[in-house]
Amino acid sequence: MNIFGIEDAMNLYGLDSWGAGYFGIDELGCLEVLPTKTSDRRVSMVRILEELKKRRIKTPVLLRFPQILHTQVHALSEAFERAIKEFNYGQTYFPVFPIKVNQRYSVVENLLNAGFTKNLGIEVGSKPELIGALSFVLPGEALTICNGYKDEEYLEAAILGVKLGKKILTVIEKPFELDDIIALHKKHGIAPYVGIRIKLNAKGSGLWEKSSGNASKFGLTTNQLLQGIEKLRDANLLGHLKMFHFHIGSQITEIRRIKEAIKEAARIYAKSRKLGVSIEYLNVGGGLGVDYDGSKTSSDASVNYTVDEYANDVVYTIQDVCKNEHVPLPRIVSESGRFLVSYHSALIVDVKDQTTEFYQRKPKFTAKEPQVVQDMLYIFENLTIKNYREYYHDALERKDELAALFNLGMIELEDRAKGEWLFWAIARHAVKYGKNTKVIADEFIELENRMFEKIICNFSVFQSIPDHWALDQLFPVMPIMRLNEKPTRKATIVDITCDSDGEVDKFVDLKDIKHALEVHNLKDKEPYYLAFLMIGAYQDTMGDLHNLFGAVNEAQILIEVGGKIIIQSATRGDTTGEALEIYGYEQEKLLRAVKSMIQEKIEDRQMSEEEGSALVNTYAQFFKSYPYLV
Ligand SMILES: *Cc1c(COP(=O)(O)O)cnc(C)c1O
Repeated sequence: MNIFGIEDAMNLYGLDSWGAGYFGIDELGCLEVLPTKTSDRRVSMVRILEELKKRRIKTPVLLRFPQILHTQVHALSEAFERAIKEFNYGQTYFPVFPIKVNQRYSVVENLLNAGFTKNLGIEVGSKPELIGALSFVLPGEALTICNGYKDEEYLEAAILGVKLGKKILTVIEKPFELDDIIALHKKHGIAPYVGIRIKLNAKGSGLWEKSSGNASKFGLTTNQLLQGIEKLRDANLLGHLKMFHFHIGSQITEIRRIKEAIKEAARIYAKSRKLGVSIEYLNVGGGLGVDYDGSKTSSDASVNYTVDEYANDVVYTIQDVCKNEHVPLPRIVSESGRFLVSYHSALIVDVKDQTTEFYQRKPKFTAKEPQVVQDMLYIFENLTIKNYREYYHDALERKDELAALFNLGMIELEDRAKGEWLFWAIARHAVKYGKNTKVIADEFIELENRMFEKIICNFSVFQSIPDHWALDQLFPVMPIMRLNEKPTRKATIVDITCDSDGEVDKFVDLKDIKHALEVHNLKDKEPYYLAFLMIGAYQDTMGDLHNLFGAVNEAQILIEVGGKIIIQSATRGDTTGEALEIYGYEQEKLLRAVKSMIQEKIEDRQMSEEEGSALVNTYAQFFKSYPYLV
């Protein structure tokens, strides 16, 4: 019996590396969450599921931990406060939450409450986002930053915000937007503050790199910037220009890229100051990344810096340039979305089935099988560590032969099944022997990757982790139970959509990417759950309704000192009826159609009245059902 302890599970799944202190394993082998990173508030996901079960909330369920939002806002702000103190930077830092990263009302509300003492503001990128954002009460100094393309209505909404006493900054992304602001000022005698997005030469790095550099979609070039300044001067509005802004993309994996961008932007700030433009804020945009695989490298799923290093570099670099140019220091703004929200939510899914294609019981051989099957049996029985390569190649040939003979009608189904079983058994052993060599041959690596079993999980990749499908983004995934037991299987995950892309076959790993996840043998009738972690940024509100799998059930959880679970709210996901309505299937209309089909059957005496009305009821009930497997 292999001894497998909690430490082993921590290492195997990499919890210590990517968990940032938010996750642990209890003595029963269950995954725990520690929303304040302190051991006085810790609780296992299994216990949370039990509490939710009492309220009849089932998996798949999205858990939100507002205390994690609190911990993250404070981590960000305090990193900047420390840097400002250390370098004696004579200005302050203003965090701003870009609402597009997670628009869920409760998330924004919790985050803004948690960040109130830190002057946390909001960034919006569209008219509807602004309309939503205007409703939040912010501290007087906190910023509301308006990005994105702006029509007149968008600007009118910004002016409404100014009248409400908010510090609104509209960021000019295209030169003509300045004309609109000037015109609006003429009309109303009032205008929001103006920021200008500058186009940098510096580029980001990682999956989102293309939102930066000279060819990026947004921002003013040096010439446009100078013309813009003149235009504002002419309109007597130069005093309204308060901020320079740039954004080189999300999840910047290399700190070097961030420093380069800040150097360039700080220089533009300083030179403009010398032109008599009294810019107050330098906004370094988003890009502060999160270490999804825990490797602390510049790989796509990681970042090679910490939040402290980020804050230090931002503060130091700006100060360095400003000293050099002898200009006053700006207030620093960052629009860090991913960092603030990615940790706060987790999706728990139930494993529905383990396909055991490669682990079926050995068939009975009678020595009466066709020669090709008997040959394979011989290979299987005589395979050793010395001959496995050659024997495996022989088996490959026999497999082709088996297929050809079957197509000619010379092999019965039973014998074909035996041949297939033998082939995969040989392959499995060959892979095992292959691992004992110093350098594993490519063909055995590929073979192993083809042989991972698939486990079916009750969720939709497209709804819950869309970036995994769209961008190959990796998220930590692991079982939430039996972590004191050695997982004996390796599997990839398939979802319940009918789409072959609805699959997870890459997993975070410290050194590389894993092609399979270690899971336990399913036990009869005993539920088994996996958690997808760190999905709070860009995932849980961006998914689509592929196959009409809509929003999942949700619960907002507080953990009290001592581990008491408070369910602040529990909401059901979209019902089948709601998912249908989104695409124009009106429930009334569907019901009417089905009713009339049933009516016809009744009239034709193919169905009794009772049976008919029972069927109508059944159909109507389906609208209220959870689209996921129940
Ligand atoms: C998306 C976006 C952000 C958020 O970036 P993160 O990398 O999530 O912090 C910030 N600013 C702008 C302008 C954005 O478009």
